[in-house]
Amino acid sequence: MPYCPTHNIPILSFSPEQILNKVFEYPEKTRVQILAPLVKAEKGSHKDTLVKIAKEGFVRIRLNGEIKALDEIGDLDKNKRHDIDLVINRLVLKDENRSRIFEGIKTALDYGHGYITLLLNDEEVMFSAHNSCHICGFSVPRLEPRLFSFNADGFL
Ligand SMILES: [Zn+2]
Repeated sequence: MPYCPTHNIPILSFSPEQILNKVFEYPEKTRVQILAPLVKAEKGSHKDTLVKIAKEGFVRIRLNGEIKALDEIGDLDKNKRHDIDLVINRLVLKDENRSRIFEGIKTALDYGHGYITLLLNDEEVMFSAHNSCHICGFSVPRLEPRLFSFNADGFL
């Protein structure tokens, strides 16, 4: 299995179903917050991003680690780096919420371009639908079949 050379963690890709199953390994009544990472340590006011998600009906983000209502955020300092995660959904872990959690996971992967952050009570867990490190994005190319089709000449 490939590992990220910087973070020494396995590079795994998860399907929405696999992420859902991971969530349901937590005890019932766990507070689940489903986040989509949008901006990672990027300078700027990110006004376009914030306006866009407000228009699409979202009400909360996590700004530099703190959950905030969109309408309580003024203009961001354009000279500073910001982390922005979109809060897709906040739910309590229980069977009745299974399909809503699943929908939330799929929506988050969509907005997060294949990345999702989950807050399970106070624990933060990240998953990626890509074959890449969920912290730094280091990826390995998909192995194509032709790489394996050595013939005798390949060993000379
Ligand atoms: Zn990494």
